[in-house]
Amino acid sequence: MLSSEPLQSLSLLTLYLTERCNSRCISCDYWRTGRRDMSMEQLDALLPGLKDLGTREVLISGGEPLLHPEWAAIADRLRAQGLRLWLLTAGLALAKHAQAAAERFERVTVSLDGADRESYAAIRGVDAFDAVCKGIHAAVHAGAQVGLRVTVQRGNFRALPRFVALARELGAASVSFLAADLGNAEAFGREPGQGGAADIAITGADLDDFADVLDALERGEASTFAQRFIEESPPKLRRLHAYYAALAGQGAFPPVRCNAPAFSAVVQADGQLRPCFFIPGPPAPPTTDLAAALNTPFMRQLRGNIAAGRRPECERCVCAKWREPEAIAA
Ligand code: SF4
Ligand code: SF4
Repeated sequence: MLSSEPLQSLSLLTLYLTERCNSRCISCDYWRTGRRDMSMEQLDALLPGLKDLGTREVLISGGEPLLHPEWAAIADRLRAQGLRLWLLTAGLALAKHAQAAAERFERVTVSLDGADRESYAAIRGVDAFDAVCKGIHAAVHAGAQVGLRVTVQRGNFRALPRFVALARELGAASVSFLAADLGNAEAFGREPGQGGAADIAITGADLDDFADVLDALERGEASTFAQRFIEESPPKLRRLHAYYAALAGQGAFPPVRCNAPAFSAVVQADGQLRPCFFIPGPPAPPTTDLAAALNTPFMRQLRGNIAAGRRPECERCVCAKWREPEAIAA
């Protein structure tokens, strides 16, 4: 068994404010099973630990965080601690909350997996493309820095150039593309026998078309890449192709480099702690403060095994994050 060094600092904490969601994504089970909201008491119990750990940024996620009846009060409480806030939302309620969100979040990331009404509805399970676009527009107008996030999959890969154009039209600051997580039994609230990841992979028959789309995007949007309006570099986007090729049995999965648990952690709506989105932590919510909970033998061993490459979740992870050790220390 391996054990990591104790965590002395944690620059980023992700909070799932709620398990509930008003989308119906085909690759997710939160909307089928999610019930719980984070309470103010749970939040208050985290605050001393955030201060001790020197946390600088909190990513507010879910479920759909804007469904939490006290999301704004929670954001205010975190801001009062000097924390920078980042909202990850599906955006269905963003038009209604645009001003309040712009006042509280340094950045807002909106998941927009369809570039038109039909594909949005097919992927997200709700007819809400226009509502989400309206919300993005309203948030931008209210002064928020909004980025779009697209989970690239069979139902939308041909529309990548259209997503870039749409991001510009809506006044977004950037657009980001990532692969759909298809192998992880823990992510997206998936529970045994509750559906899980649907068959949304880009298949072998579509891989040449996907490569052509990426070629065209690189040629047509060279300056957009250079300006980082598309957040990923061309080689990073090529990893999406390699990932789907590997899923189709054509080659190895692209190597993953990640030390997310060395600088970040996740607290679920029920208070349970996890080292990252994909790997579960201890089965019960911590009974100590956050700093102590992150450094129990269980968590140290978990981080040690992740760092040693002993967790199968990491092999196909679509959301790996790497920060140089000097940057973490700083
Ligand atoms: S993937 Fe996100 S937006 Fe979609 S149903 Fe799940 S929690 Fe909601
Ligand atoms: S590679 Fe993915 S699963 Fe592994 S620690 Fe990083 S975020 Fe978690």
